[in-house]
Amino acid sequence: MSKKEKLKIIPLGGLGEVGKNMMVYEFGGEIIIVDAGIMFPQNDMLGVDYIIPDFEYLLDKIDRVRAIVITHGHEDHIGAIQHVINEIPAPIYATPLTRGLIEAKLARNGGLDRAVFNTMQAGDTLQIGPFKVETFHICHSIPDSVGLGITTPAGLVIHMSDFKFDHTPVDGWPTDYAKLAEFSERGVDLLLSDSTNAERPGWTPSEAVIGPAFDKVIGEAEGRVIIATFASLISRVQQVADSTAKAGRKITFAGPSMVDNVKIARKMGYLEIPDDLIVPLDQALHMQDHKVVIMCTGSQGEPSSIVGRLSAGTNRQFDLNPGDTVVLSSHPIPGNEETISKTINRLLRRGAKVIYDALAQVHVSGHASQEEQKLLMNLVRPKHFMPIHGELRQLTRHAELARQVGICEENIVVAENGQVVELSGGTLRLGQRIPGGYIFVDGESIGDIDHSVMREREQLARNGIMLIDLNVNKLTGRLMQEPEVITRGFLVPEDADRLIPEVRKRVMQIVNHNGLNTEKDIAGAVKSYLHEETKRRPMVFVTLSKS
Ligand SMILES: [Zn+2]
Ligand SMILES: [Zn+2]
Repeated sequence: MSKKEKLKIIPLGGLGEVGKNMMVYEFGGEIIIVDAGIMFPQNDMLGVDYIIPDFEYLLDKIDRVRAIVITHGHEDHIGAIQHVINEIPAPIYATPLTRGLIEAKLARNGGLDRAVFNTMQAGDTLQIGPFKVETFHICHSIPDSVGLGITTPAGLVIHMSDFKFDHTPVDGWPTDYAKLAEFSERGVDLLLSDSTNAERPGWTPSEAVIGPAFDKVIGEAEGRVIIATFASLISRVQQVADSTAKAGRKITFAGPSMVDNVKIARKMGYLEIPDDLIVPLDQALHMQDHKVVIMCTGSQGEPSSIVGRLSAGTNRQFDLNPGDTVVLSSHPIPGNEETISKTINRLLRRGAKVIYDALAQVHVSGHASQEEQKLLMNLVRPKHFMPIHGELRQLTRHAELARQVGICEENIVVAENGQVVELSGGTLRLGQRIPGGYIFVDGESIGDIDHSVMREREQLARNGIMLIDLNVNKLTGRLMQEPEVITRGFLVPEDADRLIPEVRKRVMQIVNHNGLNTEKDIAGAVKSYLHEETKRRPMVFVTLSKS
């Protein structure tokens, strides 16, 4: 087989982390991208709104990118599309609901005019350059999700995005097991599969189990019920609407992304909610409390979300009433536990009753647990296996499961972002390493801040800052007046009273007696003095003006 005939599989995001999923397939110089998602920042990423994959690898190959194929409408798969199509004008392939959600997102955030769409249906086969892409329906927590069978002369690869084997899904549309079996008959060279729940034994419960929990919570609540989830968890919206109807209440949707997504999913027939069950928010706010269910975002305690603002008492349209029941219908994304816990405490302090997944089954995972992951492997019987979607611990655990079902150790590859994997002549091997890091999006700025900026922010937050302003005579080099010293974030007033005069004295000594010192030297001397005295390492900045 010639050197040209190898398939490169290039993970740009989602391997070694939870979120910002993005995979590149390259064959014979032609490229397709699968998914382009975002990740929410961790606690130590100060001031960052979200993170997108580093797709620098593609920037000198823009005209070779044939397609951006999207598996489903969750943020960690579609959130970075606006940034990708800014640089790479490739057509987007998506199922109808996924397309609708992407369009709404681009309309809100910009980029809709640049987007070119090709709508596909689960079950379609697409020929994109050298790639034959067969789509097949998979169950997840959002309708219209697909997995992909990607055939090139290098072999058949199954890209299994987020999935669960739900036999009683909310929309009644199970996973296309027949297609998986057909792939197996043909011979699968490589399976890539979702590792999110690889540490979880057993089976993930069906979405159907949540129905009774919501019936109970909404049926028994005395006041308003406010239910927070992700705006893209369309199946959850259906379940809440069903329970709302049973309880004789009306439902209203709050927040732009929630309102948009519900509108699109209803219009396209993915949500069945009768018109008379829905009331506008302003009408709901004038109804009796026990007649209302409000569905909104903020299940992760995000400060800018409706629940985040309700907990802080800063929501504009409405406030929390004592007697309201707030339901957080999602599982914490790793790293968000602390924020969520604080939000729950604040909501309780404001008199609300709070229900979350530890108290009642108001959430089930949308991801396969170990037995489903093993079932998939046994169904597909791949020659090679590569875990995707997860931190290294989940990827490693998933690889262990593959060993258990009999996939050869040497045919399993655990790779993280940026590690190219090559499939050729029926064998898999590691290729080059390329950049596969983070691009931070911070308000309007994209990628202007990097890890060094993040370290500076962290240092500022942890250790505080001291500013020293010097004014020297340009002829004599001596100070014109005492240095001005300002500190923030590391000195209590008593220490400041003692230390600041001493800093002034030392700086004057250095400048007046040693002369010819750079700002950096002065800062260094002050830094080590402050460290001796306070055991902290504040950032010290010296500004020098001559007159
Ligand atoms: Zn998903
Ligand atoms: Zn996902």
